[in-house]
This record gives sequence, C-alpha cells and structure tokens, in this order.
Amino acid sequence: MVQEDSYKHKGMRRALAKILTDKGIRDPRVLDAIMRIPRHFFFETAFLEQAYQDKAFPIGEGQTISQPYTVAFQTELLALQPGDKVLEIGTGSGYQCCVLLEMGVKVYTVEYIQKLHERAKAMLTYMGYKGAVYVHGDGSRGLPSYAPFDKIIVTAGAPTVPTALLQQLRIGGVLVIPVGDERQQKMLRLTKESDTKIRKEEFSGFSFVKLRGAQGWDAMP
Ligand code: SAH
Repeated sequence: MVQEDSYKHKGMRRALAKILTDKGIRDPRVLDAIMRIPRHFFFETAFLEQAYQDKAFPIGEGQTISQPYTVAFQTELLALQPGDKVLEIGTGSGYQCCVLLEMGVKVYTVEYIQKLHERAKAMLTYMGYKGAVYVHGDGSRGLPSYAPFDKIIVTAGAPTVPTALLQQLRIGGVLVIPVGDERQQKMLRLTKESDTKIRKEEFSGFSFVKLRGAQGWDAMP
C-alpha cells in the first residue's frame, strides 16, 4: 500500500492538534508528534476522511487504532525523557509507537495478534521509523528479557495491574495503564518509588479493547 502525504493532510493534522489542545493536552512535544505523523497511512482508502477526526477506528481483527486524544493523554502521562527505554503493550496499528519514536525514545512493542504485529512492523518500516523492536506475544507478562524499562504503556484495558509489569520497571519508572471492567476503565499512573513502594494516581475514564493473556482477561478465543 503506497500512501502520500500532502498539505491538505498537514492542515488536517494542525486542526487535530488544536482539538487536542482544547481538550487539555499541553506537552508541545506530543502535539508536534501528532502534527508530523501521517495517521491516514493506517486507514484504508475508503476511510481516509476519518483519519484526522478525534476518534478510535477499527483496524481489523476486532481491534482499533486508539483515539488521538487517548494516545496524547497516555503519552503525556509517561513524561518521556529522550533516550528512555519504553515498553508498549498492544502495538495494534503502530500509531502510538510512532508517537513514542517521534519523541526520541527506544521502543519495545508487543502485540498478541500475529497479523497486526506483522502489519504494524511493515508499515513503520515503510514509513522510515527506526528504533523499535517488534515482538509477537503476550505482553501482559511484559518482556522480561529486555527489562528493566524506564516507562511502560499499556494500550488495552486490564482487569488488574499485571504484577509482571511493575516488576519490570526500574526504580523511578512509570507505568500508564487503563484498569477497570470490560466497558470502562480508569487511567492509572503508577510510579515505582522503591521495590516496595508504588505511588498511584488515578485519572478519568476511557474505553479500551481488552488486554488478553495470562495477566489480562481470558486468553484469545
Ligand atoms: N497502541 C495501539 C492501540 C491498539 S488497541 C494503536 O496505536 O493502534 C490494543 C491492542 O492490544 C490490540 O491490537 C490487541 O490485539 C492488543 N493486545 C491485547 N492483549 C494483548 C496482550 N496480552 N499482549 C499484547 N497485545 C495485546
């Protein structure tokens, strides 16, 4: 699939960034990333008009590309520093991964569904992104062979906070994860102050697809 970027799309991205600013997103680095990434590359031709609306959208396999506001909100909560080692659970389309890469961090991204994993890896490579390691597997267990991480972001809704993810954070590290029931989740930011002390902050409600796997909801049917 060959996609083109144009001034029209850049204008649409500026308008999207304005919507996100109006909704409270403040970090200029996050807004810059949103203005640079051609989100329409992740959409089929028939749905290109939807690409710069502030909405989630189906990407196949029953999954979605997250709403831009959600991507921006979670990214802002991570308080990324250039060079951070970041674990993303739920590669999905790969759009959130692009935002992380645009912010100058090293990304390890895990996707449960092989088809989505392969598609995202191919798309980001086509787009010229480097600095990501793509893994197919159950991210609810984290990625022990690459731990510890400075930051972990989970882009699917979890029933509880997976203990594996807290274990794989370095001291001072941050985990951003939506936790709740199957319909609604609260965004949590957990900061690992020491091996025994976790500071928890709670933010507003979101609605994500389910985190599957050993420390998520039931494994995939
Ligand atoms: N970050 C994505 C959002 C995708 S939706 C984006 O920007 O498009 C959440 C994704 O999490 C889905 O693709 C789903 O398959 C994946 N997922 C669910 N449970 C998972 C698990 N245990 N490990 C890895 N990925 C998982």
